Amino acid sequence: MTTTTRQSTTYLVAAATVPEIVCPDWCTNQALHVECLADNDGEVSHDSAFVDGFSYTTVTFVDGTPVPGRPATIYVEECRMPGRMLDGVTVDAAETFARQILRVVEEANKHSPGT
Ligand SMILES: [Zn+2]
Repeated sequence: MTTTTRQSTTYLVAAATVPEIVCPDWCTNQALHVECLADNDGEVSHDSAFVDGFSYTTVTFVDGTPVPGRPATIYVEECRMPGRMLDGVTVDAAETFARQILRVVEEANKHSPGT
C-alpha cells in the first residue's frame, strides 16, 4: 500500500491597493509609474516622447499635482550631443540645434510646475 503525503506550501503575496496615477496625455512611460513609485518617494516622473532628439520630463505627485521645486528637465538623445559638440558644428547646424532646444524648452514650460 502506498501512502501519498501532500506537503503544504505557503505563499506570501503582497497585497496593496495600487494607486490611480494621474498622467498627462503626452506621457510615454505610464506603464512604469506604479513600479517606480516606491523608489521615487511617491513622486511620478512623466517622460515626453523624443522629438528631433529632445524630450522633457515633469514630476508630479500621484494625483497629478506638480511637485514644488521640481521644474521640468530637458533630455537630449545621446547620439545628438557627443559628435556635434566634440567635432564642432557649422553655423547652420548650431542654429538648427538651438531652435530644436528652444522648441522643447517652450513645450516643457507649458507643462512645468515651475521653480
Ligand atoms: Zn506619466
